[in-house]
Amino acid sequence: MSTWDRFMRAIEDGDPAEALRISEQELPPEQKPAAQTKLAETKQKKRKQRIELAAVMAAVERDGCTGFCIACGEEQGGCEPDARRVECESCGEKKVYGAEELLLRIA
Ligand SMILES: [Zn+2]
Repeated sequence: MSTWDRFMRAIEDGDPAEALRISEQELPPEQKPAAQTKLAETKQKKRKQRIELAAVMAAVERDGCTGFCIACGEEQGGCEPDARRVECESCGEKKVYGAEELLLRIA
């Protein structure tokens, strides 16, 4: 397996710390810019996808009153399943959606 392959595997495994280590210590200089782009993309994806589909589905199965904030990713109780744009108790953004509503949007 090449160093680049190990780098990509670390990213796919969700281990950016290891990917960063490989990119800094092992990758040849000509591959570093590409590695940095990959790492930046990975970070961005993480930020946007803070709400796990599995967590939403679990909330739907558990009870009908959990919402998720798409701005900060926090769960919020006492939320109607079809709630939309409810104010978030954590960040104050009106971006809390009921679990079922969210499921329809992200599934
Ligand atoms: Zn929030």
